[in-house]
Amino acid sequence: MADIRITNCHVHTFTDAHVPEFFPHPAAWPLRRVPGLARGVRVALAFAGQERLAEAVERLIRFRQTGAAGAQARILAEIARQYPQGTRFVVLPMDMAHGGWGAPAQALAAQHDELAALAAESAGLVLPFATVDPRSADSVAEARRAIETLGFRGLKIYPRLGFPPDHEALMGTLYPLLVERGLPVLSHCSRGGVTGRGLSVRRADALTDPRAMLPVIEAHPALRICLAHFGGQRDWDAYIREGLAPGDAEARRRNWLASILDLLRAHEGGPLWADISYTLFARPHYLPFLKVFLEDEAVCARTLFGSDFYMTRQVETSEREISVRLRQTLGEDTFRAIAETNPERWLGER
Ligand SMILES: [Zn+2]
Repeated sequence: MADIRITNCHVHTFTDAHVPEFFPHPAAWPLRRVPGLARGVRVALAFAGQERLAEAVERLIRFRQTGAAGAQARILAEIARQYPQGTRFVVLPMDMAHGGWGAPAQALAAQHDELAALAAESAGLVLPFATVDPRSADSVAEARRAIETLGFRGLKIYPRLGFPPDHEALMGTLYPLLVERGLPVLSHCSRGGVTGRGLSVRRADALTDPRAMLPVIEAHPALRICLAHFGGQRDWDAYIREGLAPGDAEARRRNWLASILDLLRAHEGGPLWADISYTLFARPHYLPFLKVFLEDEAVCARTLFGSDFYMTRQVETSEREISVRLRQTLGEDTFRAIAETNPERWLGER
């Protein structure tokens, strides 16, 4: 086995203390407080045929089990067991204080500070990212502090919470700071995940659409931008099951997988990157498709290995199993590109 230093570009260690009490809905509050109750409700919903609801409750149970671990260090220890020794982890925090669910128990500054301490103790294995909700001046100031004072390695944004990726606080303050320091940004890019309270799906999708990044690329061509989740499983499913009518450019733009592939080709060697987190881990049967996509040089040079732990706690297959299947399917050279070389380039280390 060749020696590869894996960098997992997308994991989370935030805990219950960073998730507002009323997320995702006030009715969920008793479920989060009483995990046994949540399990009972989930089973009842599944029997009643309410699968989507049952899945939502299942997600809450996972949040409780891993999120209730109490300290970010304990969650990190769970991830580290799944990978070879020496694997590095880009850790992405969450700022959920402005999504309409009330304040989490711990403010963003405390979450950043704990992550900074974790990174300091990790001998370089934890690469901490700051996060921000640009609608809040306090959050913007805190993200600046994490980058300037704590020395964080990049920025995570989550437009589905209710802001565009070209929000003026990002465009005018934080992106220039990242460019100046040679640091990257990662943006949630799938139709799943957390949606700001009261936000319509159409609006949330418009904020998350890969093409919402075009004004950012235009204004900050030197910024390295990762579109997380490669568009997400709903669009991979549509691409695989329904396909796309030949020559229908609009349909390719509407499908976020096709849209990202087209953007990577159109901006070959440019500012856009994509990570395979969650999407490939939740649906291992996508692996052969990924292999074919990666045969395109422009796509291969901009794809990043990432898993989305601990969201992956809700899928049956372990990260270790998917990672090894990925390595076998792609072969050593391509696996090394997405898991070692590309992350180092994206992070600005090469
Ligand atoms: Zn994630």
